[in-house]
Amino acid sequence: MPTDSSSNPTASSRLAPSPTGALHLGNARTFLVNWALAKTRGWRLVLRMEDLDGPRIKPGSEAEASELLAWMGLDWAGPPLTQSDDLSPYREAMQHLCDAGHVFPCALSRGEIKSAASAPQEGATDSAYPTSLRPETAGSSIAFLEEDHNYRFLVPDTTVVINDHFAGDHAFDLAGTTGDFVTWTRRATPAYQLSVVVDDIRQDVTDVVRGDDLLESAARQTLIYNALGHPPPRWWHLPLVLGPDGHRLAKRHGDTRLSAFRRLGMTAPRLIGLLATWCGCSSALQEMTMAEFLDAFDLDRIPRDPITFTEQEYAWLVSSS
Ligand code: GLU
Repeated sequence: MPTDSSSNPTASSRLAPSPTGALHLGNARTFLVNWALAKTRGWRLVLRMEDLDGPRIKPGSEAEASELLAWMGLDWAGPPLTQSDDLSPYREAMQHLCDAGHVFPCALSRGEIKSAASAPQEGATDSAYPTSLRPETAGSSIAFLEEDHNYRFLVPDTTVVINDHFAGDHAFDLAGTTGDFVTWTRRATPAYQLSVVVDDIRQDVTDVVRGDDLLESAARQTLIYNALGHPPPRWWHLPLVLGPDGHRLAKRHGDTRLSAFRRLGMTAPRLIGLLATWCGCSSALQEMTMAEFLDAFDLDRIPRDPITFTEQEYAWLVSSS
């Protein structure tokens, strides 16, 4: 393992799968890099099951997710935190945000918001929430009473800059793109943006490593950190893995779930060998142990561009020799 001058034994990171039964090769690459960063820099690594992610969560997938991660050869400290076990930390955070006037209740449906959003600015998403729809009380201290109600975060009209340790500096104008985003849902559960911040704070996470599809979320989460009076973590957003057609790995590329490849005969050393090429630490497809991977791991060699999963790689992954 290369000696790393940036070793920081007080730092901590997390693996945060959503137990949907669909951990795929892209997730595996991010988790492996997260694990290797933790090992080479002396970080503590914890596991969190993000099972509040609504209808996509499949019963029983939690055990499957941790079994798959362990099968890959990943390890982590302590028992996993499962979000749905206790919603009180999220309620407390909401109470705080309500007290300080950072959130407001919103009963509008997605469709109503969309039709009210006239002349959206370039780059605006469907969910951009127009400021004209803010209630008059927005910005005032309110009670967090209606748990079966949407609450939105009052997004200031400022630029949020993310200094990402892998992806570099990125500036986000959230007021013009997402607008006031949801922190609590009418299903009486926290929205992803809130739960991830509350959990990273309570799990003492100092370093967040994940796919760069969540880079813009880092800006939203930074606003929540500021509102809760807590410094944001260091961010490390990695490029995604794409299918041969250049689109993000998804169902249209066939079954790219780890569980499916495993059923087809993929061994852990084959998987690690493929991921090693995607991390720039192996030039040819060859089986690799976790020890060999760690030895070759070097953050500076990870490609800056998205990875493409090719047909040849597919064939190699599931062939036995
Ligand atoms: N649970 C999320 C996912 O599997 C990751 C969220 C995060 O890392 O902040 O996509």
